[in-house]
Amino acid sequence: MSASFEGGCTCRAVRYRMTSAPLFVHCCHCRWCQRETGASFALNAMIEADRVVLLQSAPEIVDTPSASGKGQKISRCPKCRIAVWSNYSGAGDAVRFVRVGTLDEPDRVPPDIHIFTASKQPWVVLPPGAHAVEEYYERKAYWPKESLERREGLLSKLKEKR
Ligand SMILES: [Zn+2]
Ligand SMILES: [Zn+2]
Repeated sequence: MSASFEGGCTCRAVRYRMTSAPLFVHCCHCRWCQRETGASFALNAMIEADRVVLLQSAPEIVDTPSASGKGQKISRCPKCRIAVWSNYSGAGDAVRFVRVGTLDEPDRVPPDIHIFTASKQPWVVLPPGAHAVEEYYERKAYWPKESLERREGLLSKLKEKR
């Protein structure tokens, strides 16, 4: 199994490649994600922005309200408007939340944790043993060591740039 993952929008104008596995994958059951997907949850793979290589057509960034009140930037195909990833104010531009459903092989990127299960739709039944929290969680308690180290690397890179 190669460590790269390709994906894109529905009209195939936007194509991208993740050059490694993501840091962590959220399955978010909050009402905001339910509305934005039109479904029951969002599946977002968090990954360093420099590990997402654009292969074709730049997405357009749409400023969108978010639950935090600080807003999010959703990157959408300029033609078919499918969202391929978003950036939240917390992590800024350095971390992308790639919509797992836009990957060619989304099955390779299952969720690491279910969040905001307080508003999970009742028919969605989580697999036994799945990590799940009613709202949010403490990063150190759930992220694998390797991902925490990657995050540290990212933070120190950001500091150097300042
Ligand atoms: Zn498109
Ligand atoms: Zn959410």
